[in-house]
Amino acid sequence: MAINEIYQYSLVNALMSGVSDSGITVSQLIEKGNQGLGTFVRMDGELLLLDGTVYQLQAEGKIRVAEPDDQIPYAAATHFRSQQTVTVKLENKESIDAVLDRFNDHASNLFMSYRVEGRFSRLKCRTVKGQEYDGQPLSELGKKQFVAEYRDVEGTIVGFRSPAAWQGFFVAGEHMHFIDGERKIGGHVLELQADEEVAMGIATVNNVHIELPTSDRFNAAKMSTDDVGLKSVEG
Ligand SMILES: [Zn+2]
Repeated sequence: MAINEIYQYSLVNALMSGVSDSGITVSQLIEKGNQGLGTFVRMDGELLLLDGTVYQLQAEGKIRVAEPDDQIPYAAATHFRSQQTVTVKLENKESIDAVLDRFNDHASNLFMSYRVEGRFSRLKCRTVKGQEYDGQPLSELGKKQFVAEYRDVEGTIVGFRSPAAWQGFFVAGEHMHFIDGERKIGGHVLELQADEEVAMGIATVNNVHIELPTSDRFNAAKMSTDDVGLKSVEG
């Protein structure tokens, strides 16, 4: 994959249908990019790829560095190189959209990737707890996710913005994962606020490569786009 192209394995719709029993390995993913996000087999926690290291952000706030053979049923990754870095204060999650629009207001139908570094006044993160039974859909797991709120934490957010029409392939709109500088806390970002200036590196992406699973599970899944369900679990 070239700089600032997106590689994605599987579809968010497959997770929504509970397809998460297998996937590519950690060592395969880090060949596709140095920054990204996703989840693990049986949706056991959030995945964050940062500078070539894959972290598993598990429920109840535990973090581990993933093993090379760990399997990933869904992930998006990029060889990130920022085209512009801006220093900004962020009132809330929507402020990210405003910054991206200022960078390129013609990118509403393109993908964007970004990385935000600095001190966050407030962060609300969730970590998915993992399937309680085989094939349990993500929409159901969303009701039992672990949610934590952090104040005054320093760290990095890795994110993608996908055009609305790609809902179900990707998460439409913003999708971002956070990890702190000490690699102790993190998760899928639900809310954020940065009263001090943080550094935000931004790139526009117009090349996307999607690899689909060939597993029996994926082939048997009945997939459709559940916009309401997706917004409730990935919003
Ligand atoms: Zn996520």
